[in-house]
Amino acid sequence: MAENREKTTDQMKMWKERRGSQKADTLTTGAGHPVGDKLNLQTAGPRGPLLVQDVVFTDEMAHFDRERIPERVVHAKGAGAFGYFEVTHDITRYCKAKVFEHVGKTTPIAVRFSTVAGESGSADTVRDPRGFAVKFYTEEGNWDLTGNNTPIFFIKDALLFPSFIHSQKRNPQTHMKDPDMVWDFWSLRPESLHQVSFLFSDRGLPDGHRHMNGYGSHTFKLLNDDGKAVYCKFHYKTDQGIKNLAVEEADRLAATNPDYAIGDLFNAIANGNYPSWTFFIQVMTFEQAETFPFNPFDLTKVWSHKDFPLIPVGKLVLNRNPANYFAEVEQLAFDPSNMPPGIEASPDKMLQGRLFSYPDTHRHRLGANYLHIPVNCPYKARVTNYQRDGPMCFSDNQGGAPNYYPNSFSAPETQPQCVESKFKVSPDVARYNTDDEDNVTQVCTFYSQVLKEDERQRLCENMAGALKGAQLFIQKRMVDNLRAIHPDYGSRVQTLLDQHQEDSSKKNNVHVYSRPGASAFSSASKM
Ligand code: NDP
Repeated sequence: MAENREKTTDQMKMWKERRGSQKADTLTTGAGHPVGDKLNLQTAGPRGPLLVQDVVFTDEMAHFDRERIPERVVHAKGAGAFGYFEVTHDITRYCKAKVFEHVGKTTPIAVRFSTVAGESGSADTVRDPRGFAVKFYTEEGNWDLTGNNTPIFFIKDALLFPSFIHSQKRNPQTHMKDPDMVWDFWSLRPESLHQVSFLFSDRGLPDGHRHMNGYGSHTFKLLNDDGKAVYCKFHYKTDQGIKNLAVEEADRLAATNPDYAIGDLFNAIANGNYPSWTFFIQVMTFEQAETFPFNPFDLTKVWSHKDFPLIPVGKLVLNRNPANYFAEVEQLAFDPSNMPPGIEASPDKMLQGRLFSYPDTHRHRLGANYLHIPVNCPYKARVTNYQRDGPMCFSDNQGGAPNYYPNSFSAPETQPQCVESKFKVSPDVARYNTDDEDNVTQVCTFYSQVLKEDERQRLCENMAGALKGAQLFIQKRMVDNLRAIHPDYGSRVQTLLDQHQEDSSKKNNVHVYSRPGASAFSSASKM
């Protein structure tokens, strides 16, 4: 057997070693009946046919037929791990949630990293945002921060979400990724330019999951013990340092080691090299929100670090791999509406949309009782409510406790101090159009001040390499949008598109044909 194998490759060996000399298990059916022969069907004669009475077979096959639950429509490919959050700095002046109760307090966490657009078998090293969701198992119920590796998103109105995702996934007829769909949507919605610019920059190809930051992205509300509220954003910065993959390396890995990021995380933890992130908040008062030059609840914008400095809070550490992928990662269900007292939603329209969409998805994927599944169960809190029954109810269903409220027998006390904060809303109800808000200023700062010259050039090359697959009128609309951000941004991408056009005409003249329309989500910028 080869020496120095990775921990992922040696998993079976390690499992056997851990069992040591423990007596072998008895083989059983799902109902626990001992099985006499698991290698041969029960048949009438050596050549068949087989019998319905072979329940060893039907028990096994019927369960196998039901092994897959619906794949997540987005964030299908993922890796998970477990660990803890430790408070290193006191923020009780802003937030009363017990997770931040005192310096030194630790809370168990589960984390799931993911790509967004690909299916569960797709490659880890594609150009795509990364999900970075954290579940904190607190004594006031679970808190889920359904973050990403970028502080912003492509859209700011949740009504657009299904269309946005459709445009990034497969064409309904060809079942192929379709550059026309991808770039048509983006170029028609200029609020996406900020995130699209992040996506085609170096950070669009993170080197595994350990070397990227996480962001709660949305604006949230924090409440202290006196009931005073502030707005807040969450950031978790990698202690491993930001590391990205070069386009060529990402392509090589996609072809040779498509599970690169899953393996990298598993091996690091199995080797005791526990990844960690430093956790920060940004805080904005309600008064500051009134005068902020942008809508502070707009998910396509950041809050400048200069105006709203990062306030250190704690540390996230991952020190345990899942014991079983399906049980603990495929079934791990995050829900932004899981917020303990002290953390609340802001009016952010995307967040409000997610408050509905995430638990709705879990009820569909995992069933009405998905919160009974051990990895989702708020095990540090005792659940006492009036929800009962439903499919796969595998808790004690709260035994004989009354299932209606109010009742005269054992009503759990309510906790007035946990009532949500009050806030005023008096505007007219309407479908407000937000596409004419400033979609340019922050992208311009990113392009001209945050990126260095070589990073700018790579951004433009990566973008042109993907945009060239779209029809010319879509390319033109996108370039016009880029020119509005910064003339140099538009003209560089246009020059690169012209070069691609010239190269492809030359190839066509010598009758060398290449496959048109590479996926906008392939990492490659060059063909
Ligand atoms: P700062 O100079 O204080 O912040 C710039 C931030 O940009 C950095 O702190 C870093 O965020 C992030 N950054 C650096 N290099 C890259 C890169 N190659 N790709 C993506 N992000 C990068 O200025 P501001 O806070 O005023 O932000 C200026 C612009 O920076 C914004 O308009 C936005 O485009 C971008 N930005 C801002 C972030 C924020 O939360 N304020 C976060 C990310 C980008 P980090 O420290 O989180 O790694």
